Amino acid sequence: MTGTIAKSRESFEQPRVPSQPLKKISLQRGIIYGPVPSRRLGESLGINLLPTDHKLCSFNCLYCQYGWTKHVTFAPGEQLKNLPSVHAVEAALEASLSVLGRDRKKIDSITICGNGEPTLYPRLADVIVAAKKLRDRYQPQARLAILSNSSTVGNPTVRSALDLLDLKIMKFDAGSEAMFRRLNHPAAPVYMGEIIAGLKQLKDCYLQSCFVQGRVTNADVDSVAMWIEKIREIHPLAVHIYSLDREPADKRIERVSRTTLEWIANEVRWRAGVASEVF
Ligand code: SF4
Repeated sequence: MTGTIAKSRESFEQPRVPSQPLKKISLQRGIIYGPVPSRRLGESLGINLLPTDHKLCSFNCLYCQYGWTKHVTFAPGEQLKNLPSVHAVEAALEASLSVLGRDRKKIDSITICGNGEPTLYPRLADVIVAAKKLRDRYQPQARLAILSNSSTVGNPTVRSALDLLDLKIMKFDAGSEAMFRRLNHPAAPVYMGEIIAGLKQLKDCYLQSCFVQGRVTNADVDSVAMWIEKIREIHPLAVHIYSLDREPADKRIERVSRTTLEWIANEVRWRAGVASEVF
């Protein structure tokens, strides 16, 4: 084990990844977007339950593709007025699915994601129930998925809603409270311990973990070792590992190499006994 770490430590002494221009992405402009090709989800039709003119999130991740979160919050308050009703989501989804059906296009997944953290939407379970019915009618082969930042997973009501889905992909990037705060900048009062406890109770979830370097790095040997301890504790179905693909909010962080990501994935398999794949 020590040999593995020592050998891996050498890999961090390689030159940094040559900087390549990262693509910029804009906020989603409607309730439904796509289908878009996704490395993990295939042809995926997106559902955005959040505002279309700003990001609504409980985190402010350094690597966020949508830029900085202006008001990091768990209690959207006034911002709830900007969210679509369940009926509006249902109508928009049905319109998109019927166009896909008319064009005889099959999709692989319907994914709740969008401009921020989707579990902040107050009637998430109702949306999922409605989306499931439409999925069964129009695209029964498609998986109903969510990409969540895990900030609300300590809440049993949110967990019950998430358990209605076919695929739960939950963010988990840091192995310590300090790294969690530096990388994800959560709104108070969320603590990593509550997230871990919630993820342990969530059935059959996948974790997604983004690794970066530069002003903040979670890809060094010590950070990875602490993070793997938590992965072992949560024991998800698998961990999806990736680095920057789009321009990050903080321009002082950089992508880590594919070699490093592959090393991290191997460590997850070897030290935590959990399946892992690099995307
Ligand atoms: S959780 Fe997602 S949407 Fe929110 S700041 Fe982080 S990367 Fe952006």
